[in-house]
Amino acid sequence: MPGKGVGALATTFIPAGTRIIAETPIMAIHRRDWKYETTQRMAVIQAYLSLPHPHTQLYDSLLSRSEQTRIMAVFATNTFGVHHSRDKIEAVICPEASRLNHACAPNVQFVWNDIFMGGALTMHAVRDIDAGEELTVGYIELLECSAERHEKLRAVYGFDCSCVVCGADDAAVRLSDCRREMMRKGLATCKKARAEAPKWCSLSPEVREILESVVALHQEEGLLGLSAADAWKLTATTCSRHLSS
Ligand SMILES: [Zn+2]
Repeated sequence: MPGKGVGALATTFIPAGTRIIAETPIMAIHRRDWKYETTQRMAVIQAYLSLPHPHTQLYDSLLSRSEQTRIMAVFATNTFGVHHSRDKIEAVICPEASRLNHACAPNVQFVWNDIFMGGALTMHAVRDIDAGEELTVGYIELLECSAERHEKLRAVYGFDCSCVVCGADDAAVRLSDCRREMMRKGLATCKKARAEAPKWCSLSPEVREILESVVALHQEEGLLGLSAADAWKLTATTCSRHLSS
């Protein structure tokens, strides 16, 4: 991929909702080892030394963009943060999934699936993807503003994002930042209201109005991954509780 190294392109039309990748990790680091940098480094190096030879070759073939030693640099550049409820896995290395580059309005969403294949990282198309289009995921929290996203991407992954959102003119970037801030604050307000509301009580019309605008902003911004799912889930629970009340 020009200016990006490796990447993944759709070879055919992919309808929204299609599962593109389901991959068992070659390395998984548990939450207990994640808290401190030293335990994290030890856990990664130990896991690397325990890899079977083919997996070591796969690991070594992955891109590293940070300034750390090679093993940690590959880990920092390629790890997926996941929440595995059963075994409390915090971070995984999946070489196939690692081929996807970052975008700030990605067309693919990854999640950890506890049940599928005994535990796997799965990736789904969040919108229709045309043949020849690059497949992209979000490496970081996408509701942050462009300056915060750029700072994180530079610090952790060592590149400047030039995706469609970040490469737009200043006015479009400002509008995108404004939308994302409204989405972030709106979602936080609605989640708080939901958590504080009695179990079978409907949310207030004001909160429902905020939720509707959060859903609409996600669609306008083309952000159709996890935070959009959060907004739709809240809307669904709001509606069901509204009907029940
Ligand atoms: Zn970007």
